[in-house]
Amino acid sequence: MSQSSNPLLQNHELPPFDQIQAHHIVPAIEAILEDNQKIVASILKANKFTYAALAQPLEEISDRLSKAWSPVNHMNSVVSNDELREAVNTCLPKISEYETALGQNQDLYQAFEALANSDEFNTLSMAQKKSINNSLRDFRLFGVALADDKKSQFAKLSKQLSEITSQFGDQVMDATDAWSYLITDAAELAGLPDSALSLAKQAAETKGKEGYLLTLDAPSYIPVMVHCENRALRKQLSLAMTTRASDKGPQAGQFDNSQLMVQILSLRKALAQLLSFPNFAEQSLATKMADTPEQVIDFLNDLAAQSKAAAQSEFADLEAFAAENYHVDALEPWDVAFYAEKQKKAAFDISDEQLRAYFPAPVVISGLFQVANKLFGIEVKEIFDMSTWHEDVTTYAIYKDNKMIARFYLDLYSRSKKRGGAWMDDCRVRRQLSDGSLQLPVAYLVCNFPGPIGDAPALLSHNDLQTLFHEFGHGLHHMLTRVDCAAVSGINGVAWDAVELPSQFLENWCWQRESLALISSHHKSGESLPAELLNKMLAARNFQSAMTMARQLEFALFDMRLHMEFSDNEEHQVQRILDEVRAQVCVTPVSPDNRFQLAFTHIFGSPVGYAAGYYSYKWAEVLSADAFSLFEEEGIFNAATGEKFLSTILANGGSQEAMDLFVAFRGREPSVDALLKQDGIAA
Ligand code: ZN
Repeated sequence: MSQSSNPLLQNHELPPFDQIQAHHIVPAIEAILEDNQKIVASILKANKFTYAALAQPLEEISDRLSKAWSPVNHMNSVVSNDELREAVNTCLPKISEYETALGQNQDLYQAFEALANSDEFNTLSMAQKKSINNSLRDFRLFGVALADDKKSQFAKLSKQLSEITSQFGDQVMDATDAWSYLITDAAELAGLPDSALSLAKQAAETKGKEGYLLTLDAPSYIPVMVHCENRALRKQLSLAMTTRASDKGPQAGQFDNSQLMVQILSLRKALAQLLSFPNFAEQSLATKMADTPEQVIDFLNDLAAQSKAAAQSEFADLEAFAAENYHVDALEPWDVAFYAEKQKKAAFDISDEQLRAYFPAPVVISGLFQVANKLFGIEVKEIFDMSTWHEDVTTYAIYKDNKMIARFYLDLYSRSKKRGGAWMDDCRVRRQLSDGSLQLPVAYLVCNFPGPIGDAPALLSHNDLQTLFHEFGHGLHHMLTRVDCAAVSGINGVAWDAVELPSQFLENWCWQRESLALISSHHKSGESLPAELLNKMLAARNFQSAMTMARQLEFALFDMRLHMEFSDNEEHQVQRILDEVRAQVCVTPVSPDNRFQLAFTHIFGSPVGYAAGYYSYKWAEVLSADAFSLFEEEGIFNAATGEKFLSTILANGGSQEAMDLFVAFRGREPSVDALLKQDGIAA
């Protein structure tokens, strides 16, 4: 194939989805990688390390790769087939090898250092400076700046860490898969919804068995814990689940992760110390918005102190409810979800189906665009000249002051060969090209809502609505950026613990009377959501929110303390720290055999993942709730407040420190008060 006939090697403003085929992928990616490596070598050989001679051409080649790779990777997620998947899997290790080689390139690191120390550096824009500083930081975190003997040690330990974390994850998966329980008498499953029953029946059939097979996969496990009347069965599943990959429970010792966990902690600490951090928690925060582990601990302790009483009282209510209505005296760990469901049903009689009728997809989408218009002064218009990957996909352009500033694809409905879940991804990043012109950002917004049936519009649940607003919030962060330097434009370079701010922020408009008037309209009567339903929704939103908070704080405090305090010289410290954290925040019963930490793949299943970063969930929630509270004070459609959010947080992306941007918007540092209020924990 000649290069000119390969659509992935032509310079398209937008991906030519109607032309891209599986056989184009490997030759195009290989050609780009090879070409890019030659360009890197020639940049280094020229030995002239100005912004225009070093940073600009590197941005150029990295953008070229992502412009070819992004549509390919995207198609593999939304219209996958065997050829596409094979081509993508062939490219993945090549790209990863290329990126590792760049990140560990000593000469490139020194070139960036020379640029950072040059007189020119002070004349660069804030975004350009930030992108160079980020590059230097990332080179150092790759171990490039180490002396040769330490560098080889770093490489050796990194490799071990990656192998052991992967073993940890494998053992969790093996332990999960190895346990199942066959039930032949359906009466033992009383209370289980029909959908879960047929799933269990199907699981038995695939194993050539008669009856109902229960497993530890979430779609099997959760309905049992929530709905099954059979207490002994709930206990059995709960113990199997919370002892996975440990020295306890039905598979005691078979897949035990205890030693691996200690090795992971030890390797992380050793690697952090090679990079001159006292511990892994400090290393993790080097790329995050939070400054120090102590700051994170204070933050979590503050939330714990302020929500503990509410969590205790929620649990006391649950105990009273179970005693009064079901004569259960002491709640065991396997009773909590079960009685909580009954209590919730008794208190808020509200169903998803009832709400769905008010949220036809076309109304919701136009309402979403009206909300964005009122907040940020942008206009979103459907356009018809973008080629897409599927007939369900609609395409839009965003205008500000009558000028097009971005475009996006919207792929709302689930179908086969499309990955589950919802996400926003970047198709084109905003940046200034070497000829001085501007490349505009383009985003993919993908959801998996049930599609329309016949001529009737798709009806979304309120949960779907929040998902759509959430992803659109990420999309606005990517598309409303005013930064021209790719590495820190849009969501690029935004700290991990701040990246969920715009997405969670926008979800708030799914809960306001004024905005619901725009985004709801009964598909038959045209009536917008009645106040009575909204009030029930709001009450149900905060059901057991303090207990949920306590649980998240337990994970976050355990994760952070473990990575701050770990020492190679103390036995049983993991359990000690977990017990201390539970004594501080946990309000629900825990079985003495509970070893949930040994299946905590979020923080032990990959070299970094959420390690010393689990707090990010709560951190970003605090930011979004606190940002929204300014709208509560000044009006939820206050255009000046909206413009301020746009010009600080959305427009600047990763080009400035997340804390500085937050302070520029809110006028002060974040406070936990708004989240506690939003969760109904504080008045
Ligand atoms: Zn998100």
